[in-house]
Amino acid sequence: MSVLSFLGGLTFPRGIEPPGRKDQTRKQAIRRLSFAPRMVLPLTQHFGRPARPLVTRGQEVVRGEPIAEADGWPSVPIHAPVTGTVEGIELMPTARGPKTEAILLRTAPGDSQVVRWSRERTLEALSGEELVEAIRDAGIVGQGGASFPTHLKFAVPEGYTVDTLVVNGCECEPFLSADHRLMVEATDSIIDGVRLAMRAVGAPEAVIGVEDNKPDAVAALQAAVAGEDAIRVVQLKSKYPQGSEKMLIKALLDREVPSGGLPYEIGAVVNNIGTMAQLGYLLPRGEGLIERVITVAGPGVERPGNYRVPVGTPLRYLLEEVGFEGDDPSRIILGGPMMGNTVAFLDVPITKGVSGVLVLPEGAGDESEQPPTQPCIRCGRCVEVCPVGLNPAELGRLAAKRQYAVMEERFHLNDCFECGCCSYVCPSNIPLVQYFRIAKSLNWERAS
Ligand code: SF4
Ligand code: SF4
Repeated sequence: MSVLSFLGGLTFPRGIEPPGRKDQTRKQAIRRLSFAPRMVLPLTQHFGRPARPLVTRGQEVVRGEPIAEADGWPSVPIHAPVTGTVEGIELMPTARGPKTEAILLRTAPGDSQVVRWSRERTLEALSGEELVEAIRDAGIVGQGGASFPTHLKFAVPEGYTVDTLVVNGCECEPFLSADHRLMVEATDSIIDGVRLAMRAVGAPEAVIGVEDNKPDAVAALQAAVAGEDAIRVVQLKSKYPQGSEKMLIKALLDREVPSGGLPYEIGAVVNNIGTMAQLGYLLPRGEGLIERVITVAGPGVERPGNYRVPVGTPLRYLLEEVGFEGDDPSRIILGGPMMGNTVAFLDVPITKGVSGVLVLPEGAGDESEQPPTQPCIRCGRCVEVCPVGLNPAELGRLAAKRQYAVMEERFHLNDCFECGCCSYVCPSNIPLVQYFRIAKSLNWERAS
């Protein structure tokens, strides 16, 4: 055990400790959101190739039925979140920006909306590889926000061995508490999912990291694995961005992922707790991913809480259902306040990777209300908090001079995972993380 555990809790070096602000939702049991009259299912709601539609306009579908298939290995299928009728396949706005093709489903009025489709399978008989395929067939993507297909993470390249499955139960972003509620309410599904994931990647051990601001979640998980040596539940000091892969591996295993490398290179695969809950619930039933739990919080939300939301539910419908009456998209963030993104329109759907809907105070999205950016005073705070040991001040100076290639070649810009710690602490309000996002995307465009 790391010496850090004797100095106030196991964790990773640097990072920040923003106020948790989870009280609005963390004690509220998960509720089901009602079914919207019309669902919008983008064919691209995951990293990789878009899914291919299996349905045509006018076709009737049942809840759970595949409506789009994976287009090759780096892709996942999409399942109908409601029983209803296909209205068409059209270009629709998404939270990611440009319009993309989406299947539009009209929800059957008055239907009980029970799941009516499943695939028969004997899970016990499947090899690790077959399990990975079953995970792809279920359309599972990472539930922490990145929407990376889970089967791609589990397909460990030849020549590598994974000894530990690392499970992220940190939920270190302020406001979000959906994972917390899952750990308390869906403990058995999570542990079933962990066991399946261990088989899929061939890991003999698993460790679940949970921050110390969720003692009830730690207790529930520890009770569920009592007497099971292969799965450990470890309490970590609450700190941001502990949920990111490299930080979590450092905190739990005291190993470092090399610059530009991936966790399997040091014997680990990392997954989110919500992904484990999906895996443990869906695979034994032979069902696909059609809904997820989302935290809805912030001022002006009359009924904040954690909601089980069908994938494809329009954001505008969800906001109306929780009693938010505003109409300003710049107040809405999908995900948490540190790594989430604002939306351009309210008419975008909730997709598989959306972990939260955060409503900001009035005027918060208005740029004219933001404190002005001042020159860098070389205080060094950004360097002190960067969890991957970069020099954000120097990177910021280079970004201002548009020396994007130098940022990458000499200052490891690509190791920046856009956690926002540097921007958070900067007394000059320099939007460092925005600079780095722009620089990375320009470098990427230049290289492709
Ligand atoms: S946004 Fe990038 S540079 Fe800034 S603290 Fe996070 S990893 Fe470091
Ligand atoms: S925190 Fe801001 S002001 Fe301080 S060194 Fe970094 S960029 Fe400069």
